[in-house]
Amino acid sequence: MASTTSPNESLNLAIVGGGITGLTLAISLLKHNINVTIYESAASFGEIGAGVGFGPNAVRGMGLISPEMEAAYERCRTRQWESKEHIWFTVRLGDHKKVGDNGLVKREDYEKLKNGAPMFEVYYTGDGPRGGVHRAHFLNQLVKLIPESVPRFCKRLLDVTQPDGSEDVVLHFADGTSAQHTAVLGCDGIKSRTRELLLGKEKRAVFTGKYVYRGLIPMAKAVEMLGEEQAMNSQMYLGYHGHMITFPIEKGKTLNVVAFNSCETWTDSRWVVPTTKEEMVANYRTWGPSCSAIVAAMEKPDVWALFNHPPAPTYHGSQPLICLVGDAAHASTPHQGAGAGICIEDCYILGNLIAEARSVGGLHRAFRAYEEIRRPRTLKLVETSRQAGLLYDFESQGDDLEAVERDMKSRMSWIWDINLVAELEKAKAIFRPLN
Ligand code: FAD
Repeated sequence: MASTTSPNESLNLAIVGGGITGLTLAISLLKHNINVTIYESAASFGEIGAGVGFGPNAVRGMGLISPEMEAAYERCRTRQWESKEHIWFTVRLGDHKKVGDNGLVKREDYEKLKNGAPMFEVYYTGDGPRGGVHRAHFLNQLVKLIPESVPRFCKRLLDVTQPDGSEDVVLHFADGTSAQHTAVLGCDGIKSRTRELLLGKEKRAVFTGKYVYRGLIPMAKAVEMLGEEQAMNSQMYLGYHGHMITFPIEKGKTLNVVAFNSCETWTDSRWVVPTTKEEMVANYRTWGPSCSAIVAAMEKPDVWALFNHPPAPTYHGSQPLICLVGDAAHASTPHQGAGAGICIEDCYILGNLIAEARSVGGLHRAFRAYEEIRRPRTLKLVETSRQAGLLYDFESQGDDLEAVERDMKSRMSWIWDINLVAELEKAKAIFRPLN
């Protein structure tokens, strides 16, 4: 008698980590009727109360994964003014310390820049919606697309083993429990345990020489300080060994602020530490009036050390069967605002390949095809993002503002303009001949 079981029902996958990547991958797999369980170490799904910006590639990826996901984003998206919709950032001079004294900027131009005039604008290429959301609100919307039976909380993964004579994997958790699945999809972020199990400790994240102050300002106050146009549209302020970005979130009720800074080493075992207003103000004392006002108004700021991953030689392993996805595979600095977006791209490609896998053998081939297509692009993001941080902080082109402008205007289109459907076709072509 013919089986009534759909081929995909023979797969029973474990997703480790319920951040943006884990939830997005679950949404993608559930769309293809694939059995999936999310194991999250925290007691519930959760994100921090800061903003995250998505480019057109990310939003197209959401729509391709599921119209409900794109609608969830749309419910959280904060638009800039219609006349500014096409602008990624308006770029201004933040630090007033030195520019102009070295002959690179004419004295009269420098005076204009010091008075707050924009230096240039970086336009989005690529069609489609884009823009910032409040992380926690967006994650809550994604959670609504996940059936209650899918997540298991307080499940911190310690180890993955393969029982003798079985193709399955067994996940071992800190609470002493274990679970058997067909494969592990490691979506456990920058401090990934699945990455460590696959690649060893030497591929752990490394400090990038940058840290950020993150904080929020009520929009009414921001408008008072900066004026409506500057507060309600994305701005980037450049400086020596630091820069600052601001963009509106929560439908324009809040201004999201990320203020970047540099230091050689990071010795604290914590990557997020509390800070004081005095420390921040001291760090930006040579910056102009807009930036000084922003720093003074940031509510409950934290310091976040920025780490990124050294290149992973592979994103998957066969014994036990593990595949790394999102930040677990390629955690990046945030300088191109694309880390989470590229995680969403991963989920679109991998979800569709797994949908065709149908068996453990098929999963191996799906993971290989995923790695071949995704690894070069995602590693490029990590490296170019690191370079972008140096650029904005006058550490690669110095304060040659024309060179900085040229570089900024040409560095994002390969991220935003990707044709994800064509990428999936390429991945499927790698996957199929081995069938
Ligand atoms: P995470 O969000 O880290 O989620 C991992 C999950 O796994 C967590 O829920 C964690 O609790 C769980 N977990 C960890 N270990 C275990 C374990 N052993 N067992 C079980 N569960 C575990 N990207 C953009 O696209 N745009 C931006 O504007 C942007 N801004 C950023 C600003 C800053 C300052 C930073 C640091 C990053 C920024 N990013 C941005 C990058 C973006 O935040 C990340 O790429 C994205 O959040 C990664 O999502 P993830 O789900 O892969 O990992």
